[in-house]
Amino acid sequence: MPLSDRVLMGPGPCNPYPEVVEAMTRPMLGHLDPEFLSVLDETCDRLRAVFRTANALTLPISGTGSAGMEAAFVNVVHDGDVVVVGVNGVFGERMCDVAARCGAEIVRVDEEWGRALDPQRLLDAHPSPAVIAVVHAETSTGVRNDIAPLGAGKGDALLLVDCVTSLAGIPVEVDGWGVDVAYAGTQKCLGVPPGLAPLTVSDRARERLVVRPRSWYFDLGLIGEYTGPARKYHHTAPVTAVLGLHAGLGTVLAEGLERSWARHAECGRLVQDGLQKLGFSLVADDDCRLPQLTTAWLPDGVDDAITRRTLLERFGIEVGGGLGVFAGRAWRIGCMGHTARPRNVTLLLGALAEVLAR
Ligand code: PLP
Repeated sequence: MPLSDRVLMGPGPCNPYPEVVEAMTRPMLGHLDPEFLSVLDETCDRLRAVFRTANALTLPISGTGSAGMEAAFVNVVHDGDVVVVGVNGVFGERMCDVAARCGAEIVRVDEEWGRALDPQRLLDAHPSPAVIAVVHAETSTGVRNDIAPLGAGKGDALLLVDCVTSLAGIPVEVDGWGVDVAYAGTQKCLGVPPGLAPLTVSDRARERLVVRPRSWYFDLGLIGEYTGPARKYHHTAPVTAVLGLHAGLGTVLAEGLERSWARHAECGRLVQDGLQKLGFSLVADDDCRLPQLTTAWLPDGVDDAITRRTLLERFGIEVGGGLGVFAGRAWRIGCMGHTARPRNVTLLLGALAEVLAR
């Protein structure tokens, strides 16, 4: 089966939107070509629309979602700052590591994998943290953590949120929820190949940015000048990746964010109902289960590696294995971006029924 027929239903990347593929195969432009600069600025405007923010400092960081995480932390965490981190999966754990490397004193609020963090526990964890950091959509467990109560109760703290798997798949309201720093990735619900990390920073957070942070490349004092009318050379923009993101955001906004969320919700329901009929049980609690990323326990007697390999080789369908403590026992099935179509769910469930019956 040709590689072009792959249906990417892992935790990412998903299949890119056709408009993205077209944009990324356009002739190369110089990174200072006026045509490219206007695409870059329009990409920042489109990111504001998708993040639902008026933040002036909104741009695609060159690098994957992890670059967004690192850029977020190095710029707002000062040596010795108290940072409250919610941990209910791999990416919350990773936030602790990144924040610790910035010199933070970490106050962890742990929750069992598969359950959502209790916002009140995060708010009560320390009387005056500098930063409260949470992953909105935990890709390792398929759980959605509530953000709005954190924004309402954060007091003087900055609220830093990982939106890598949530942006365009479920509602994200940066300004409406009082989020100060948010970052995402391109390869999930935005339907764009991996390589950029959309980042947005509130004016309130900008007033507290670390001067000369530990990273030169991610220093927002320098990168801030990479976009906008007063631009200066900082690094060579990954032109092709930006053209792809520009097109992906255009597709998402033309569909409408609400319609994109509804499509992800519908596909998530279909995946989850179908998996349960096939003997899988769902890991995440009902009230916090993500539609775009389903984590499911394998039925007894089903071999993880062999079954996933058969799906890939016979049907061209990729699903993800479990991460961390879920490895070998659970699957992560993504239905994101252009992949989030009912026909792909039908294909997956039909193929899976056939493979399990053998
Ligand atoms: N945060 C979350 C929630 C993720 O799911 C991921 C990747 O899957 C990352 C951060 C890291 O992103 P990347 O792998 O693009 O560096």
